[in-house]
Amino acid sequence: MESYHSLITSQREFFRTNQTKDVAFRLNALKKLRSAVKLYEREFITALKTDLNKSEFEAYSTEIGIILEELRFTISKLRSWVKPIKVKTPITHIGSASYVYSEPYGTTLIISPWNYPFQLAAAPLIGAISAGNCAIIKPSELTPRTSQVFAKMIRDIFPQNYITVVQGGVETSQALLQEEFGKVFFTGSILVGKTVMEAAAKHLTPVTLELGGKSPCIVHEDASLKLAARRIAWGKFTNAGQTCIAPDYLYVHKRIKDRFLALLREAIHEMYEEQSMTRIVSDKHFDRLTSFLKQGEILLGGKSNREMLSIEPTILTDITWDDRVMSDEIFGPILPVLEYTALDDVVEGIRKHPNPLALYLFTASTRIQNEVLNSISFGGGCINDTIYHFANPHLPFGGVGTSGIGAYHGKNSFDVFSHKKSVLKQTTLFDIPFRYPHVKNALKRI
Ligand code: NAD
Repeated sequence: MESYHSLITSQREFFRTNQTKDVAFRLNALKKLRSAVKLYEREFITALKTDLNKSEFEAYSTEIGIILEELRFTISKLRSWVKPIKVKTPITHIGSASYVYSEPYGTTLIISPWNYPFQLAAAPLIGAISAGNCAIIKPSELTPRTSQVFAKMIRDIFPQNYITVVQGGVETSQALLQEEFGKVFFTGSILVGKTVMEAAAKHLTPVTLELGGKSPCIVHEDASLKLAARRIAWGKFTNAGQTCIAPDYLYVHKRIKDRFLALLREAIHEMYEEQSMTRIVSDKHFDRLTSFLKQGEILLGGKSNREMLSIEPTILTDITWDDRVMSDEIFGPILPVLEYTALDDVVEGIRKHPNPLALYLFTASTRIQNEVLNSISFGGGCINDTIYHFANPHLPFGGVGTSGIGAYHGKNSFDVFSHKKSVLKQTTLFDIPFRYPHVKNALKRI
């Protein structure tokens, strides 16, 4: 196994010079990154096409555009985020003032997945830079072209001892995890998340884990069905369903099921054609997904092409929780539909399973919205929409339970890469005696 010890030592030494802590230095780095993303935009679009057959529209709207917006937001707010925050001090501490300082962890490791290979490597990096850290990014080996362009871009703008990309697969990731970092930020599967946390535990390194799970989408009988159909079709089939927060399966009220599914078919027809869809990332993933096509009834789609690694947007009906497609996160363009009559059964059904990363609920009723929000724990989600919460920098993005630990985006990205150092500044003008044993009048002693 290759050792990255000297690379990490060089970053640690650079960090100790305190240069990365200077706010002007951080802003300059973020601006350099922004210019480079613009400069490399075409290369990223081509690489995403080669790796995943991503359309230019999706490459920009779900990867490059998101990062440029995150950079704009962070650059505009950073000066206010870095300031120590004055907090209240109880009367028992009279004479003193209290502050919270955000300090960088130092050397940080970012491990990212293949499904949004540019965005999910760049977004945590914005957090690491804004908080004043050095960073090593290990992007996914399954999208090699995008990872190469990312590495080239970073090499162009940053010295290795500040920010660098290490390319490679599982072994590279494991070798990096042997080292001691100030912070590890991982995006990927639940199984690998556990390995990452175990490795980090050896050094007591704090981790942020952005994981996955089965995200439910509930369509109640009073929902605006046409809108629900469009928003679900988009949220599910963007990136061929290979989105951590894509609706994994639908729970549709029995009374409107047929009407809603007809509208959903229409919406899918309008938005997607097989040839222009993002492809499945590998043979292994393709085979796993197509094995689900034998379950239930195929209401729409169901065709696949192994050579092209493409699968049509597919709706499966007559599905129950006992079907294999309901056991793990699907992560592909296959949408199983369960029907319900009582909302309590939906809540119970979801609560029997691990906490989802996202949940979507389509209903006009505030009472039902509150009931679902109050009964089910999930990372984040939308009422009457899908996925859109992801792009609001004011909403922390992350999971709960097996769907993840910690949250980022916007100020939260700055916070997950910062240690909050609490400092009490005490007066030397007087001293209050009551905390000292055997001292009658400490005030007089000054
Ligand atoms: P993955 O866990 O297989 O791989 C993620 C990264 O970890 C890659 O860089 C990979 O090289 C590395 N890795 C793989 N095996 C490893 C091991 N044994 N030890 C150390 N490192 C290892 O995930 P993936 O297949 O790339 O991505 C899909 C998963 O990621 C899905 O479960 C999805 O829900 C999740 N995801 C979550 C989010 C989120 O923001 N919460 C975003 C995207 C994807």
